[in-house]
Amino acid sequence: MKKVTVHAPGTVANLVCGFDILGLALNEPNDIMELTLIDEPVVRIINRDQYNLPTEPEKNVAGVVLLSILEKTGNKFGFEVTIEKHIKPGSGIGSSAASAAGAAVGAGLLLDSAFSTDELVQFAMNGEKLASGVKHADNIAPCILGGVSLIRCIHPLDIVRVDAPDLHVTVVHPQIEVRTSDARQILREKIYLKDAIKQWGNIAGLVTGFIKGDYDLIGRSLEDVIIEPLRSLLIPGFDEVKKGCKEAGALGGGISGSGPSVFMLSKDRNTALEVEKVMKEVYTRIGIEFHTYVTTINKEGVKAVVSQ
Ligand code: ADP
Repeated sequence: MKKVTVHAPGTVANLVCGFDILGLALNEPNDIMELTLIDEPVVRIINRDQYNLPTEPEKNVAGVVLLSILEKTGNKFGFEVTIEKHIKPGSGIGSSAASAAGAAVGAGLLLDSAFSTDELVQFAMNGEKLASGVKHADNIAPCILGGVSLIRCIHPLDIVRVDAPDLHVTVVHPQIEVRTSDARQILREKIYLKDAIKQWGNIAGLVTGFIKGDYDLIGRSLEDVIIEPLRSLLIPGFDEVKKGCKEAGALGGGISGSGPSVFMLSKDRNTALEVEKVMKEVYTRIGIEFHTYVTTINKEGVKAVVSQ
């Protein structure tokens, strides 16, 4: 029986100034999934981790994505999927997106690569709708494509893969809960033109910095005058972590997705490790448990292997 084994990477959405439109894929952590086709037109989910996520397909991100693929293909068969999560749900490093993107890519391969990349992103966005209430692709696109993605538009879908130089990424996940709904609610509906001008200057600067491999420009552009001042209030130690990491040599960074994880970009691994020390020191002192990753940008996105 044909089986697909998938490694779906964690992702950092927003990249500080690019709320909802920029994201990058990480080499670590990865969720591992196995998908097979079954005769019955249903979706069966088996969890092989400690997170107790729902096994009803309508309530699990991977399930929703697979159901949408069954519907599109006329319910002639079904899927069984085994999920082994290494990306903690609600961490802000794209746990839901990994399940959604992994399910879409795995199913596509079981069906002899029946779908284009844009179609895979569309299917996977159904999962993000379940997790956060809105369709967004700033985790899904980099998870599937790898590297840095710019989501210029989602209606109609227009995703641009942005070249980026080698960068080291340090992530700290303080073990506190920030509800995605709270992180959305805290935002203002309207923004000042002067703030918008700053923000789009930074987005253009960041994308140009990536393409040119201009580390100083990347660092200067990692500034968010709209979202971070509000959302950082939900993350204890944020200002201290950010200041300390920059002093340790990070180019810059900020909230990963809607938090609570915080990420920093560095030019080399030694700096990324110094940055990790700062993160550990701050959260140890504050007394909040945490988990850190020191990794690099994943250039290939979801990896899938087909076996018989
Ligand atoms: P993250 O940014 O880490 O993806 P989200 O808040 O966007 O966090 O998504 C996590 C939410 O989605 C949780 O409420 C979780 O219970 C729910 N969920 C349902 N199925 C899955 C899945 N397969 N993987 C991750 N989260 C899932």
